[in-house]
Amino acid sequence: MHALLIAAANPLQPIVDFYESGLFRAGLRLSLLFVVVLWLSLALWVYKDARRRMNDPILIGVAVAAGVLFPFVGPLVYLFLRPPEYLDDVRERELEIRLMERRFGGADTCPGCSAPVEADFLVCPACSKRLRKACESCERPLDPAWQVCPYCAAAPPATA
Ligand SMILES: [Zn+2]
Ligand SMILES: [Zn+2]
Repeated sequence: MHALLIAAANPLQPIVDFYESGLFRAGLRLSLLFVVVLWLSLALWVYKDARRRMNDPILIGVAVAAGVLFPFVGPLVYLFLRPPEYLDDVRERELEIRLMERRFGGADTCPGCSAPVEADFLVCPACSKRLRKACESCERPLDPAWQVCPYCAAAPPATA
């Protein structure tokens, strides 16, 4: 009956009561705690993610600072600006490309016309430039750097 009388005197009184109640304050503190935990977790996530994507400690520092100083907005901006690939993936891909180049001899080109040539070509098929000498005794192609024929152990001719 008492509460009803107060409610009649001030229609907003139940709302005021609610905001001043311990329940509301506890709820407010809990949501504040939740926001802080979320903020710190996002900053930690930025740190962990940045370390997997960037080599530069300064850039990682900037990303983490943005995550801490600009709660929620910082990590969001980082999400858009971060490098698209993990460093591990980049390293793996570069290794694969190098392996492929070695396997297919992709690095070998004619010094005269840049046409692709095989490691055992004596002459460039495109411009007929002399690429290698053939061993005089076994006729296999010799690398100019070789001091001796690796196939028959004959020494290559002294003059080019
Ligand atoms: Zn050529
Ligand atoms: Zn030989």
